[in-house]
Amino acid sequence: MRKIAIIIGHNAKSQGAVRVTDGKSEFQWNSHLAEMIRAHAGCDPDAEIRIFRRQSGFGYTKQIQDVYARADAWGADVTIELHFNASASSAASYTVTLSSGSAGSLALCERLQAAQVSALGLRDAGVKVRERNGGRGWRSLWTGRAPAALIEPYFGSNFNDCIVADKRKEELAREIYQAARESA
Ligand SMILES: [Zn+2]
Repeated sequence: MRKIAIIIGHNAKSQGAVRVTDGKSEFQWNSHLAEMIRAHAGCDPDAEIRIFRRQSGFGYTKQIQDVYARADAWGADVTIELHFNASASSAASYTVTLSSGSAGSLALCERLQAAQVSALGLRDAGVKVRERNGGRGWRSLWTGRAPAALIEPYFGSNFNDCIVADKRKEELAREIYQAARESA
């Protein structure tokens, strides 16, 4: 059995960036995407997907430690944390995936990046490595035992990106599932 942990970025109290089209938060939009990804495992007897949410009761570092400890305790083969990007510039538009740079994480991230670009057709900004104590998001990539990825398929601050992401959300879910399945 291959175990794929999907971690929803942010939490119920502090939901992350919001989309310019409909005001939906990262937490909301990605909670739905996670359910769509998980639905694909229903037809696969050898794969299991579990969705993990960060708890809002304690600080950021503790939240990350707690959620990745739960994914590890479950026995996750890979972890994928879901976000979308945001910029002060409404024109910013691309797909990016963040990796710790470990061999397992890079293999997972390369597949996920290709999957998202194939599904949405937005500009491919590639896989970016976050060093330990590096830029935004590094802790999510370095805390758990399993190879980790943090994905940002599009910009919630870009009107067209939001339209494309909604229109192609089912393809996005399917492609992410297949990429995760090949990596787990
Ligand atoms: Zn985020």
